[in-house]
Amino acid sequence: MNQAPLQLDTELLLQWYDTRRRILPWREDPTPYHVWISEIMLQQTRVDAVVPYYERFLAALPDVKALADAEEEVCLKLWEGLGYYSRIRNMHKAARQIMDEYGGQIPGTSKELQNLAGIGRYTSEAIASIAFGEVIPSVDGNLLRVFARRTEYEENIKSPQALRDAEVFYSQRISLDRPGDYNQAVMDLGATICLPNGEPLCEQCPWNCLCQAHSSGTELSYPVVPPKKARTVSQHTAILLRFDNLVLLEHRPEDGLLAGLPGFPMLDGHPTEKELKATLSSAATGLQILMRKSYRHIFSHREWEVQVLEILCSSQNEFEVAAAALFPGIQTITADISEIRTRYSIPTAFRPCIQYLQT
Ligand code: SF4
Repeated sequence: MNQAPLQLDTELLLQWYDTRRRILPWREDPTPYHVWISEIMLQQTRVDAVVPYYERFLAALPDVKALADAEEEVCLKLWEGLGYYSRIRNMHKAARQIMDEYGGQIPGTSKELQNLAGIGRYTSEAIASIAFGEVIPSVDGNLLRVFARRTEYEENIKSPQALRDAEVFYSQRISLDRPGDYNQAVMDLGATICLPNGEPLCEQCPWNCLCQAHSSGTELSYPVVPPKKARTVSQHTAILLRFDNLVLLEHRPEDGLLAGLPGFPMLDGHPTEKELKATLSSAATGLQILMRKSYRHIFSHREWEVQVLEILCSSQNEFEVAAAALFPGIQTITADISEIRTRYSIPTAFRPCIQYLQT
């Protein structure tokens, strides 16, 4: 580990932060609620994409009580486009916990925060340090990368040991007066200077005189990461089953991918029109099958290759018989097309299908 005086570390970093920090709406008024919302939104999502969502969310649900009182559909709608919907579901649950168990006050320590739905180690530490001044490092991917380069860390950066080593490193340096700013400063450093993909901007880095990788010219060799696993690719057929302005949706199962969200029902594989007609058998007499444009959707570890088929029914009875024949046992919703855009939060994985739903 670097033997430089630890106080110098902190001073250099905070001086840099005071002049170069990113101006972000939640930083201008870092109440616990604001920090909480922003930290949850920032999981898996870029800062510039989060800002408009954050502002819209706060305008609609300005405090914990408003969030706790809101209908789940309203919360999901405000989250639409951010993905990873379990985050908003858990926030909604946690808001109700805060009202019921903490008298409406967000608890002020990282330990207590972890009792709330959807708040794990990192998020609890970020909220506790930024909103409550708890002296604790909140080690995310940015802090891990900077740590690995600062120390030429040779182990797999995704290992639990690396997390523990990074926590020790930052615990020795974190500012006792400004722990939240310290954490945010390293986050900013990682996001804007010590870049994840490509060459870091070491000449602009406040820690360049203390950084081992910079001094050896080995910046791009760190962090050490294990080779990525290939994504699993699977084939599906999204069915747009319609009669007049009605369309069939699936309320997806409560666990698994896109849990509990509305989507278009899907069949496994890419059946042909002939195979589909055979499945529909007697229901197929009056309906029309239209092949639409296929697309791919990439999740973090999976990829869907989606064929899209629109099935136009000539009567409500035919619609119901076809739904039962194609999708026995799934939980379905019959929605009006106008509601697809206004009421339901259709996940991005199904968005390419929506263009075909013209009234
Ligand atoms: S000097 Fe370069 S490699 Fe080292 S922490 Fe700063 S930006 Fe990262």
